[in-house]
Amino acid sequence: MASGPLRLSFVRSATRVDELPPSPAEVAFVGRSNVGKSALVNALANRRQLARVSNTPGRTQVINLFTVDGDDGGTLVDLPGYGFAKAPKSVRRDWPTMIEGYLLARDELAMVYVLVDGAIGPTPLDARMLDWLRAHGVPHTVVATKADKVRSSKRAARRRDLAAGCALDEGDVIWVSATTGAGIDDLRSLVRDWIDR
Ligand code: GDP
Repeated sequence: MASGPLRLSFVRSATRVDELPPSPAEVAFVGRSNVGKSALVNALANRRQLARVSNTPGRTQVINLFTVDGDDGGTLVDLPGYGFAKAPKSVRRDWPTMIEGYLLARDELAMVYVLVDGAIGPTPLDARMLDWLRAHGVPHTVVATKADKVRSSKRAARRRDLAAGCALDEGDVIWVSATTGAGIDDLRSLVRDWIDR
């Protein structure tokens, strides 16, 4: 059983689900632009520049596919961030079709990790995403990012509030920090469990 950083190798980018190669099992990461998704993917892989940590969110509107831990492993899919107000209209219009198409059509998809900014909690768009996943029966788990930004004195209340805002129990939310590495090992194990089955 592999341990340590996920060995992620970039396979390809795609703008449509039918461009994606087959995969034995897949996990996907999705979240609002700037939620810390690129930083998290890099932290899972222990690499600095694998997924672009970006100050111009909304630019990359492609699905990025990575293999995990070698050829027989599954794949990790980095979905484009949603809800960036300054993205071109065409990008905002095409996003739901592209992402919803992927989430509904991809048979290999075992788990969708929905990233929510731990420092600010779920936005209305995050809540809408979660409602949509529930309505369509797509398996998903909420990951709260940027745990290091929450002061320790506020942590208990923030954990409670963020879970409630997502209509979840506290224990259902995974807290991580790409900056300090908190929670990263646990999330790696969960990802491996999904794609190794
Ligand atoms: P993306 O648009 O979701 O891919 O978000 P990025 O990974 O580009 O991160 C957005 C911003 O949040 C960047 O300025 C990152 O440096 C910052 N960030 C990401 N993860 C963390 C974290 O765990 N802690 C802190 N303090 N900042 C983070």
